[in-house]
Amino acid sequence: MKHELKESYEALGISNKLLEIAAKAEADLQDAFQRVDEIAEVNQLKVLRAMQAHHVGEAHMTGTTGYGHNDLGRDTLEAVYASVFHTEDALVRPQITCGTHAIATALFGNLRPGDTLFSAAGAPYDTLEEVIGIRASRGSLAEYNVQYRQADLKEDGTFDYDAIDKVLQNKVKMVTIQRSRGYSLRPSFSVSAIKELIAYIKERQPDVICFVDNCYGEFTEVIEPTDVGADLIAGSLIKNPGGGITPCGGYLAGNKELIENAAAYLTSPGMGKDVGASLGILPSFYQGLFLSPTVTANAVKGALFAARVFETLGYAVSPSSNEERHDIIQAITLKTPEKLLAFCEGIQSAAPVDAHVTPVASDMAGYGDQVVMAGGTFVSGSSIELSADGPMRAPYAVFFQGGLTYPHAKVGVLCAAVRVSQGDGYSDSHGLSSIMLLIHLPLSANT
Ligand SMILES: *Cc1c(COP(=O)(O)O)cnc(C)c1O
Repeated sequence: MKHELKESYEALGISNKLLEIAAKAEADLQDAFQRVDEIAEVNQLKVLRAMQAHHVGEAHMTGTTGYGHNDLGRDTLEAVYASVFHTEDALVRPQITCGTHAIATALFGNLRPGDTLFSAAGAPYDTLEEVIGIRASRGSLAEYNVQYRQADLKEDGTFDYDAIDKVLQNKVKMVTIQRSRGYSLRPSFSVSAIKELIAYIKERQPDVICFVDNCYGEFTEVIEPTDVGADLIAGSLIKNPGGGITPCGGYLAGNKELIENAAAYLTSPGMGKDVGASLGILPSFYQGLFLSPTVTANAVKGALFAARVFETLGYAVSPSSNEERHDIIQAITLKTPEKLLAFCEGIQSAAPVDAHVTPVASDMAGYGDQVVMAGGTFVSGSSIELSADGPMRAPYAVFFQGGLTYPHAKVGVLCAAVRVSQGDGYSDSHGLSSIMLLIHLPLSANT
């Protein structure tokens, strides 16, 4: 058994030395893995009970066409999401094209000309710069005369309460808080840190809408931001809550009024949640949500493993392997553009789809810097599946995430370790990795 496994890894060019590091890493992570399994168990029961409470049945697996009036499967799915997140209502649609669109729907639906949006958690995710108008863009909130304020995080990555207090001296309509780190090296926020922040804000302005960008955070803890005062959250279904099988879409969950406002923006005033055909894809929405707690747990284990292995190899990682996790993202500072590309090549080489292509840095809609993305995924662009990406800017950090199964995340990390440490003695010169480099076809990763 052990021998067969070793042979399989050797065939991928992974040296004995690296396998020893991997074995030691797994031994070191036993307690952390157990904690992740416990979180998955709680969340599995949460999702299961929500489905049972709403009497999810075979009839809900069929879809509507045309307007999508009276789409029972869609409406029940939204009720299930509302139960899982303990909110009054939810909006879960294949027509929400991505995470950015889900967040934009929350913002545009609930802000009006003259209102102020306030990011209390520092700079928002890259693509939101154009949504807000931090980078001038057609159709941004700035064009609709929505003002924007930002309180940068403190040096250590925590909330700057003095700066937040200052902004709250003036009337704010909506506060946005990003749970995950995005393409920055600041830590992700725990739900309990978000709870403290929301309490502080509401003490000063009780009527403010507290919105949380929940991307990558779902089911990494046993509570969600909506359990601690967030009025509205949003996220992508090709990340955690789609469980790796939902083919597209986004969700919002929150107070009824706020969801209605978002729906009026997404579809049309007067129509709101009542329209939007689900066609035939609802089974993958239900099943994806059902699988999400364990798929997310696998991804978190993969991130822990990546942290431990790259710590051992001498790289700066964030979070470290002994920190609590609040999302599925692992950042590894690689310091050079060559190593960033090498890491992504390693992840790509371990993919079940498109393993033979080479990721290259390119311009991407919504991003200011060139971005390199690796991910040979069943669902295009899915980042709950094994993937790695990063902007081509100092300090050349790679953001690693996903893995539908832990063994797949593990082999991906090891293939990346081989490429990154090419020449450092961790790759097996008799293995395939160096040969595979030569036969890789140049192909843009901009898909
Ligand atoms: C991924 C992500 C987004 C946007 O997601 P897309 O689906 O790529 O549009 C927004 N915020 C955070 C923190 C993210 O990780």
